[in-house]
Amino acid sequence: MRTKIVAGNWKMHKNAEETEDLLNDLIDKLPDDKEVRIIVAPAFVNLASAVDHLEFTNIGVAAQNMHQSESGAYTGEVSADMLKSIGVGIVILGHSERRAYFHETDALLASKVVTALKHNLEVIFCFGEELKDRQSGNHFNIVENQLKDGLFHLEAKDLENIILAYEPVWAIGTGETATPEQAQEMHHFIRETINKKYGNIAQDVSILYGGSVKPENAREIFSKPDVDGGLIGGAALKAADFAAIVNGI
Ligand code: PEP
Repeated sequence: MRTKIVAGNWKMHKNAEETEDLLNDLIDKLPDDKEVRIIVAPAFVNLASAVDHLEFTNIGVAAQNMHQSESGAYTGEVSADMLKSIGVGIVILGHSERRAYFHETDALLASKVVTALKHNLEVIFCFGEELKDRQSGNHFNIVENQLKDGLFHLEAKDLENIILAYEPVWAIGTGETATPEQAQEMHHFIRETINKKYGNIAQDVSILYGGSVKPENAREIFSKPDVDGGLIGGAALKAADFAAIVNGI
C-alpha cells in the first residue's frame, strides 16, 4: 500500500504571526481519522517555530529548498544540516518556480537530492512540463528526461525517501487544472518510467499531483489509481480549504 500524502507549499507567504495562526487553524480543522500523511512547508524563517508548534501533531514540516553544498560561503543559503538541526525532516526540491526564477537545472537538482538524502532528509521532488511542451505533444519526453537527469543516479533503496510531485507548469497558480484523466495518464507513465529503471519498487513510490488543486476538484483527482495525493499551493493557505482537500483523499 502506498502512502497517501497531502502537502502544502506555502511559498513566500505568511509572516511569523500568520504562520502560528494558520498552524493553529490547521490543527483545529484537519481531520484525524484519515489514512493520510500531512505535510506543510512554511518559509525558512518560520520552520523552527513550525516544528515546535506541531511537535505533538501528525503534521510534518518541510523546507521549500536547500543548498547542495555541506556549508560554505554561500550568502543567503541554507544547508541540509541546518534543516536537520532544527528538526525538519523533509525538503521540496525542483519546484517549477525554483527552476524558472532561480535557474535550477536537472543537474543541480541531482546534486541537491544527493546532499538531502545523505542528511536523511526525505525529498519531495517536483517536475512537470510547460504549456508549450504539452501543446507540442512533447510532455512525456520532458517528464522522462527530468526524472532521468534529476533522479536516475540514485540507487533503488534511495527511492524510499523520495516522494514525486508531478506539477504541470501550466497548471500551477493558474486556476487551470489537469483533468483527472490527464493526471492519471502522466502518473501511470511516471510509474512505468521508474519501473523500467528500478523494477517493482515503483509500486511503492508516492506520486503527488500539483497544479490548482482545490476542494472542488481534489476528490476526483485523488480517486485515480496512480495519484497518491497532492502538492497544494494557493489552497494550502486557508485551513478550511486545505482540510477539505485532505478530506478528498
Ligand atoms: C505549487 O506551487 O506547488 C502548486 C501546486 O500551486 P497551486 O496549487 O497554487 O497551483
